[in-house]
Amino acid sequence: MTRTRFRRIAALLAAALAAAAATAAEAMAPGNWTLLVHGGAGVLERDKLDAATDAAVRGALDRALAAGGAILAQGGSALDAVEAAVRVLEDDPHFNAGKGAVYTADAGHELDAAIMDGRTRAAGAVAGVTRTRNPVALARAVMERTPHVLLAGEGADRFSREAGLPQVEPDYFDTPERLRQLEESRAQAPGSARFDSSVKYGTVGAVARDQAGHLAAATSTGGLTGKRPGRVGDSPLIGAGTYADDRACAVSATGSGEFYIRAGAAHEICARMRLLRESASAAAEQVQAEIAALGGKGGVIVLDAQGAGAWSFNTPGMYRGRIAGDEPATVAIYGDEK
Ligand code: ASP
Repeated sequence: MTRTRFRRIAALLAAALAAAAATAAEAMAPGNWTLLVHGGAGVLERDKLDAATDAAVRGALDRALAAGGAILAQGGSALDAVEAAVRVLEDDPHFNAGKGAVYTADAGHELDAAIMDGRTRAAGAVAGVTRTRNPVALARAVMERTPHVLLAGEGADRFSREAGLPQVEPDYFDTPERLRQLEESRAQAPGSARFDSSVKYGTVGAVARDQAGHLAAATSTGGLTGKRPGRVGDSPLIGAGTYADDRACAVSATGSGEFYIRAGAAHEICARMRLLRESASAAAEQVQAEIAALGGKGGVIVLDAQGAGAWSFNTPGMYRGRIAGDEPATVAIYGDEK
């Protein structure tokens, strides 16, 4: 091969890689208090989402912002606000968290959640829980009522009962749409769990800065359709899918969890902001690009210590919303929306 030909092919390859990794990102100014939420990333395109789903999702994101925003407006804590916002989305069947969680390969549900308080870097998380109506509340109970950070499986279910949290039968989490997705994924790729971004995902998360300047983050998910029972994603792993540190940032991620774990995504974003003084959007884009280069897909919401925020995703869309002390709520789904 001649050198010119080689160069031309290399340039074409680099352009193709850059296009594949293209990221939609937006930076936002700080507010006196600020709340960002996400409801998952995926191939969310206008022709793939019917009008009823589009409206229902926007309505739920609005309700989540209203629930968390009311707390922040009254001087409440970022921690209470992220829990309140995530609970609203867990209760809504359009999202892959709580009611509406995806199915495992065994057609069950194993839910993961985490919460972190940026004031003290206290954190709580649960993995593979099966009976707690609101896993984010269980994550908070782990943080506040045990000396541990992460409880998994049967022990986490037992702690949930002992802590007196509302319990549900496992079929509470069932929805016909998620069952259809399980059947589709079994037909397409028997025996494998993938983050198939052509399916509309719906892991949920929130990051907030309160009037006292404290940060918090929370994430909740059913994981991946068809996942092997026992698989744990990035959402409940502190530093992978969830992180908050008053010195730098709050982050909640969504996407192909294995890649966010390998990148240590949420902590890496915070570390870049704290040590390299990068902005929320620069740090988010940098880490998203690394994840894309590894082959991962998804998105993040990020707030900095002053409440300036960013979201960034390398999928066609991400369910997302923002409200701040001086600005009304806005929600968006598609990559081209501001
Ligand atoms: N990140 C989640 C997981 O891997 C899935 C998602 O965000 O949709 O469990």
